[in-house]
Amino acid sequence: MGFQLTASDYAEYIRRAYKKINENGEYVTELDLATGDGDHWSNLNMGFTKLNECSDSLSKMTVSDEMKEIGKIMMSVIGGSSGVLYGSAYLAAAKAIKGHETIDAEGLCSILSAMLDAIIQRGQAKEGFKTMIDSLAPAVKVFKECIENGTDEKELCDKVKKAAEDGAENTKNMEAVRGRATYQADKGIGHLDPGAVTMSYQIEVLMDFVKEKIR
Ligand SMILES: [Mg+2]
Repeated sequence: MGFQLTASDYAEYIRRAYKKINENGEYVTELDLATGDGDHWSNLNMGFTKLNECSDSLSKMTVSDEMKEIGKIMMSVIGGSSGVLYGSAYLAAAKAIKGHETIDAEGLCSILSAMLDAIIQRGQAKEGFKTMIDSLAPAVKVFKECIENGTDEKELCDKVKKAAEDGAENTKNMEAVRGRATYQADKGIGHLDPGAVTMSYQIEVLMDFVKEKIR
């Protein structure tokens, strides 16, 4: 029982994440224009467009090299702070899964956890700052709890996905501590953080995909 993601599986997840991000451009840009400069979606979409184009070659690597390559692509293609943060996250993920042929539940948890640590360190941010961390951190927390408790993997997928979505939703009531929203009188209160929303899209697509792969 359980799942074992291969590099080819992860490449398929990348294609699906690209699709999800690509089709939500208008919505995410609208969110970003309320508090930022409106470039978050176009930057991230550029990165995922490139990853989607490279997905066949990604599928032929070891999972660790695949993470490393994704990190390099994101760092070079995505502009602004998101590129550095996602790049660092995937390079940390490559280290976390080094030596493994496939990604099982523990492996995926260690990947997401390593990504979270890298983003916190590189972004000098933490939970509650109204950033992508506010979606990823609760997802990692729930993932760890599910592994500790031996939760059924399908249930685990649903719980992690929900934690990421709820986390993104919770940014609506947060005051921004970083970025342009801090210059606004309301500090972005009342608006979702676009970075948290796109992070929740990725976790949502990932957990739905993983759920399909459980045998
Ligand atoms: Mg921006």
